[in-house]
Amino acid sequence: MSGTGLKRAFNRCINYLLAPGICLACGCELENADSLCASCQEHIRLVPSPCACCAQPSPIAGRVCPACLLNPPRWQKMIAPLQYRGLVRDYLLQLKFSEALYLSRTLCEQCMKPFGRSLPRPEVLLPVPLHRDRLLERGYNQALEIALVWSRGLGIPVDRRALTRPRATLSQSGLSAAQRGRNVARAFAYSPRRRYRHVAVVDDIVTTGSTISEITRVLHRAGVEYVEVWALARVYRR
Ligand SMILES: [Zn+2]
Ligand SMILES: [Zn+2]
Repeated sequence: MSGTGLKRAFNRCINYLLAPGICLACGCELENADSLCASCQEHIRLVPSPCACCAQPSPIAGRVCPACLLNPPRWQKMIAPLQYRGLVRDYLLQLKFSEALYLSRTLCEQCMKPFGRSLPRPEVLLPVPLHRDRLLERGYNQALEIALVWSRGLGIPVDRRALTRPRATLSQSGLSAAQRGRNVARAFAYSPRRRYRHVAVVDDIVTTGSTISEITRVLHRAGVEYVEVWALARVYRR
């Protein structure tokens, strides 16, 4: 085992040992095996009356928002229940930049309901892929880890090799919406285990949606009819 591998295994072990007795967010002691204390739980907020298309708040509950009516996104449906702020934001930032997978499990379990209620269910979950270099550098793909939790909870298989990212791209953070679109153009390839008609693409956070939009374009071209986007959190439009 390499030095990094060993360090990672050690960290996992520590996380496992610590997780049942303390709050993962504030570190206070917990009597039961819950991973968040009651006051931290309160900071995890759901997006109020989300639009079924873009997962941002819709002025009319249960209806597609005016922005999506005017300019419909490529995908057919989006579920991203958590507000990307406060504790959720801190969590997800840790998830991107460190070995904090136990946090993603906690968040995934916290917000399973909206995915469970959404019918009909997709046939398969497709995690947004990382480029090979990024995967080697980070050691895990957070989108895959999230997909695995929802897969277990909802009984939907994951096809982890259907989507690949053969072209390395710049990090999307700090780029404008137009630059993000150009950055991910033709970055993805799709070769599924079998032909799917209804899929859910899984990611941690949806920001402008340019990555998801490019993936959806590739999926539609390959004959996928219905593309859902499943994410933990949604960044609100400004
Ligand atoms: Zn706490
Ligand atoms: Zn919308």
